[in-house]
Amino acid sequence: MSKLLSEKQLQNILFKDSPDSIFIIDIEGIIVNCNKASIKELGYLKREITGSPVTRFLSEESIKTFQSKFSGFKKFEKQEGEVQVITKKGRILDIWRKGVPVKGENGEFIGAVIFDRNITKIKDAEKALLNNKNNLEKEVEKQTNKLIELNKELLSLIEDLQHEREKNLSILKALPDIIFIIDEKCVFKDYNVADAAQLFVKPEVFLGKRLDEVLPDDVGFDAMNRVRDALKTNKIQIFEYTLEVKGKKQWFEARIVPKNKNEVLVVTRNITESKNAKREIVSALEKAEKSDKLKSAFLANMSHEIRTPMNSIIGFSDLLSTVTSDEKRNEFVELIKKNGSNLLMIINDILDISKIEAGLVKITKTQFNINEELKYLYDSFSGHPKILSGLIKLKLRLGLSDKNAMINTDRTKFNQIMTNLINNAIKFTNEGFVEFGYSIHLKKGSPIVKFFVRDSGIGISRNDIDIIFDRFRQADINDTSALGGTGLGLAICKGFVDALKGTIGVDSEKGKGSFFYFTLPYSKSSDNESIEEETFLPKDVNWSNKTILIVEDNVSNYKLLEAYLSFTEAFVLRAANGKMAVKICKKIDNIDLVLMDIKMPEMDGIEATKQIRKINKSLPIIAQTAYASDSNRDECFEAGCNDYFIKPVSRNRFIAVLSKFLD
Ligand code: ADP
Repeated sequence: MSKLLSEKQLQNILFKDSPDSIFIIDIEGIIVNCNKASIKELGYLKREITGSPVTRFLSEESIKTFQSKFSGFKKFEKQEGEVQVITKKGRILDIWRKGVPVKGENGEFIGAVIFDRNITKIKDAEKALLNNKNNLEKEVEKQTNKLIELNKELLSLIEDLQHEREKNLSILKALPDIIFIIDEKCVFKDYNVADAAQLFVKPEVFLGKRLDEVLPDDVGFDAMNRVRDALKTNKIQIFEYTLEVKGKKQWFEARIVPKNKNEVLVVTRNITESKNAKREIVSALEKAEKSDKLKSAFLANMSHEIRTPMNSIIGFSDLLSTVTSDEKRNEFVELIKKNGSNLLMIINDILDISKIEAGLVKITKTQFNINEELKYLYDSFSGHPKILSGLIKLKLRLGLSDKNAMINTDRTKFNQIMTNLINNAIKFTNEGFVEFGYSIHLKKGSPIVKFFVRDSGIGISRNDIDIIFDRFRQADINDTSALGGTGLGLAICKGFVDALKGTIGVDSEKGKGSFFYFTLPYSKSSDNESIEEETFLPKDVNWSNKTILIVEDNVSNYKLLEAYLSFTEAFVLRAANGKMAVKICKKIDNIDLVLMDIKMPEMDGIEATKQIRKINKSLPIIAQTAYASDSNRDECFEAGCNDYFIKPVSRNRFIAVLSKFLD
């Protein structure tokens, strides 16, 4: 280089053609020279520049900076820094200024050379960059904040979703329903079930299969049609079907809900319990309605049954006073008697059935001889016109010797059951036979007595057999009306047999006769060997040497008993109340028997018996009452009575009871 250019030449070139502005200043800071670049940059003429202080072209701010630095030159320190230069046109330029102090020949300060490099573009770019950076940072911050907000929202949304999902899951788990997803080809796609045991078949068997491949044919086809309908109409389809699950028929309800164009949700529920409950309610309702109807029919029937004999009794009683001939009077009396006993029978039946209905049947067990009872019944029924006339042959079959025929049960109820069954047998048999009796059987190792009444009568149809023991049922059976009866007899028998812990039943065929039976527990006790009671048959009775006191406040009742006794030739006394009876017993000591009415004015039969017992312990006292209750009977025995009968009593029974004490 030194070969090519001289120092001077180089300085010239550098000064003249430098792209940077160069100023040469003196010790006062006055510009003494400047190059081309500076003239171009400042836009002033050279002569305008030279001779001016270098600070003239600086901004106010830069003047201060420069002046502070200018003092450094004097100490021969190079200075550099940023200043702002103002051009002639007033533009402000950012300049990087470097100042180099110049020494004189004697080493004194003679000025400085100033190099200015225009860095406005770089500065602007820097500024723009900074601005951009700031904007960018702001934007980033804004976006970050937005993101944070979004994130928060998202988190709470996720939380909500989680809750929702958990809620849905727990709902799904708690649902008794099984949910299937089925596609448009009727293929099982998915399912949800709380307990897998509810499934008809295992998931691996049905998933991916078509409905008709899994379900029984009829259900499968039906279900497929419903799925197609649901997809076609976009409407819920509901249908019920049955499946056999573990050998049991179960009812289901399916709701097919369109999910989208290609899938349906099938919500199925086991409705067997509600179906059964519904069926039970309907049948209970039907039963209640039927029973209500039966009760109404029964009441209508009863009212008719009671009115008929009542009308006759009232009618003929009225007529009695008007008739003059004995023949007519007797005829009317007979009719009144007949209707009276009919009425009594009906009232007794109603009382019995009410007790059974109310669960008030009271059982009083005593030891008695069934052979004796049945023989007595045989004798009583032998007087029935159908038997007397020979239309029906009456037979008795006893299963035990008289000695062993003791049984411990309620005697009154036993008699009532037998009487009812025999009465029915005779009533529903026009000709042939009626046989009754008993035999001994073993049931689960224990002996039982099976009583029966067999007849060759009209028999009972299959339909009626199931209902004849039901209460209020006679109203249903058409052909009985002609034969009369309350329709309560068998229901009463059943009520009593139940109370006696036995069973009652019938074998019968229409037109071929009937076989009614009932069982009672039988225990072979020591009594069955020791007791030998004589069976009474009221034949030749002669009590001409006996005195009988009838205690009875009602004249008609007294007259009836007196009439019953007339053929025995007994001597009969009467007391109209308990007080009189006690008085007579105290006065007359040859009384052989007392017939004691219970309900009387002044002193009742119970009190009178107690008083008589104080003076005579052995005198037989037989109570007679219109109340057929068991407590009544107990009260009589406790007061000291020896026996008891319910009014009205038949003559035979009356004589039979008295014979036990008089013969
Ligand atoms: P009732 O005889 O007063 O009608 P029951 O309760 O005694 O009432 O009998 C009910 C019904 O059972 C009778 O109406 C009759 O249809 C039928 N029945 C009872 N016993 C016999 C029998 N021995 N033979 C045929 N039918 C009978």
